[in-house]
Amino acid sequence: MSKQQEFVLRTVEDRDVRFIRLWFSDVLGQLKSVAIVPAELEGAFAEGIGFDGSSVEGFSRVFESDMVLRPDPATFSLLPWRGEQEPTARMFCDIHSPDGGPAPADPRHVLKRALERAAESGFSFYIHPEIEFYLFTSGDLRGGAPVPVDTAGYFDHVNGGTANDFRRDAVQTLESMGISVEFSHHEAGPGQNEIDLRYADALTMADNVMTFRAMVKEVAVEQDVFASFMPKPLVDQPGNGMHTHVSLFEGETNAFYDPGGEYQLSEVGRHFIAGILHYAPEISAVTNQYVNSYKRLWSGHEAPSYICWGHRNRSALVRVPQYKSGKASSARIEYRGMDSATNPYLAYAVLLSAGLRGIEDGLALPEEAEDDVWSLTAAERRAMGIRAVPQSLDHAISLMEDSELVAETLGEEVFDYFLRNKRAEWEAYRDQVTPFELDRLYRSL
Ligand code: GLU
Ligand code: MG
Ligand code: MG
Repeated sequence: MSKQQEFVLRTVEDRDVRFIRLWFSDVLGQLKSVAIVPAELEGAFAEGIGFDGSSVEGFSRVFESDMVLRPDPATFSLLPWRGEQEPTARMFCDIHSPDGGPAPADPRHVLKRALERAAESGFSFYIHPEIEFYLFTSGDLRGGAPVPVDTAGYFDHVNGGTANDFRRDAVQTLESMGISVEFSHHEAGPGQNEIDLRYADALTMADNVMTFRAMVKEVAVEQDVFASFMPKPLVDQPGNGMHTHVSLFEGETNAFYDPGGEYQLSEVGRHFIAGILHYAPEISAVTNQYVNSYKRLWSGHEAPSYICWGHRNRSALVRVPQYKSGKASSARIEYRGMDSATNPYLAYAVLLSAGLRGIEDGLALPEEAEDDVWSLTAAERRAMGIRAVPQSLDHAISLMEDSELVAETLGEEVFDYFLRNKRAEWEAYRDQVTPFELDRLYRSL
């Protein structure tokens, strides 16, 4: 038994933990959970816990329905929202096949594999996300539109408002689980909030994003409101972006930092951005995986529709943020495409692969876009070589289908499943007759 496993067993005993939840993610990034009692823990570490994967999204191939959860002791934490007395704990799990190897459909494994490839070139990958979400009065829509909890806007301080209390509780909860928060504020939409997590290695951060979404939903229940990470819940209001700041380190050295480079960005950083811009259309189905994701990307409100990079430019897909001069560890780039409903394991994996490919192939960084690319004409954008992100999930899927980069990063199993699932979502959507059509056409035709 490893030291970490021993530590978990001891803590469970000392703290009188009654349940240990084993967490994992399905292929779409939905959190799955199974609880065990402390008596099962030693066995869980030694042999894993078997479960039937056949009804979990992405694990449904019948001959692979028997799966094994292997808890990762490094992720052990008490769940603050379950109370101090006889607490509940959780650990993230790796999923193995019954024959012992990692299950190809496990998103955590997909990310680990991508990180191992980066490590072969000497890189580790760090992430700092800005996670946006809405607070609504209820989860039950009864056929109407969601109702935000307030009418406040960007950085507004709402005296005694739900959002203030909410953020305080949410941030305290995160900190008590060892997830450091850098920043939290009201966002531009009514009832919209943002919490930014302090950077961590990509695997830890993907786990943190899963925890974050579960925690925010729990705190919302406690406060009698409803939290949604849906990419675009309200027409005419901003969507929920999950801007993702990334950096590569070589040992202790930030590989994106060069004091002499433009914006103090190194050649490695420039190639990394070039890779992201080059592969942005084909990774989009992964970073923006729902029909609804494309409504965020195409409705303005500072969501990026065009593939370009900039420094101060908030219409760009990739931004090189301003940071304190000479602070090497802060050198990073911000990918603004991702939304809050993504599967972080898969999204980080494809983002990393795209950037690394840019480095390996020495892709040249196109010219910076200094203008608001929204205000340019289509002809101007074409002349500048600025392409658009996919218009719809349908469009994104067809670009992903031909992507050797995404196929290789996700592995055959996840790649096939993902495409099948997303194709089905698109077809179900296409089959709808929407209120928009009835409004426009029913009486006049
Ligand atoms: N909500 C915007 C988005 O969907 C981002 C606003 C901001 O710049 O933080 O990307
Ligand atoms: Mg924001
Ligand atoms: Mg941002």
